[in-house]
Amino acid sequence: MSEKTNESFPRPEADSPENGRLFILSAPSGAGKTTLCKALLKLFPNLRYSISHTTRPPREGEQHGADYYFIPIEEFKKNIKLNLWAEWAEVHGHFYGTSAKFIESTLDKGSDILLDIDVQGARQILKRYPDAITIFIMPPSIDELEKRLQKRGSDSRLTIAKRLKAAEAEIAQKDFYTHEIINDSLSKAIEQLTDIINLPRKNR
Ligand code: ADP
Ligand code: 5GP
Repeated sequence: MSEKTNESFPRPEADSPENGRLFILSAPSGAGKTTLCKALLKLFPNLRYSISHTTRPPREGEQHGADYYFIPIEEFKKNIKLNLWAEWAEVHGHFYGTSAKFIESTLDKGSDILLDIDVQGARQILKRYPDAITIFIMPPSIDELEKRLQKRGSDSRLTIAKRLKAAEAEIAQKDFYTHEIINDSLSKAIEQLTDIINLPRKNR
């Protein structure tokens, strides 16, 4: 994983009970984040998904403005200079970033936000929003992770090999997160996530 990150953005006002809350989900690619996020968005009407911007090309079936905003690298880098990212990082050779404007305006409206970002992004968000809730999703095993990446059928063999290698480095940082969930049974993982979202503020 690259260490390139955005440390320069100033911290906004302190967390207020009327504001929405931030839920950060991180996991090695293929562990099931996208599947879990989709399930949570159906269960929680006040939860908004933070659609990331990326310079990665779309996978088959991915929609601009729904899964990601797919943008050119020049635009991404210009936005770094303009401080438009709440966080950004280089992951698996592509840039990914979260719109600061989206986060601010959504929290102001009182909606909760679900972020699917890597550990570099999670660290940056926590600096700006110390009350953000961090959750690491673990695959039941590396063998199962490989099977899921193959089953998804969207990545080449080389990409899968790269992602499995990166998974080890990502898993090594899981203790940084407050919560850890093993996505073995999908329904159990959804239940555990639901319990975390339903916890009263001070207990998260
Ligand atoms: P991520 O977003 O973390 O890369 P996905 O949500 O795309 O992962 O899931 C990768 C593959 O694993 C998909 O084919 C998905 O249907 C499958 N999957 C997700 N969760 C489970 C689970 N608990 N059991 C079995 N397969 C799962
Ligand atoms: P994928 O290309 O498989 O969709 O995502 C690859 C990795 O990038 C995942 O670990 C995902 O969580 C992470 N990611 C997606 N969007 C963002 C983002 O906006 N910021 C950061 N830091 N990571 C992201």
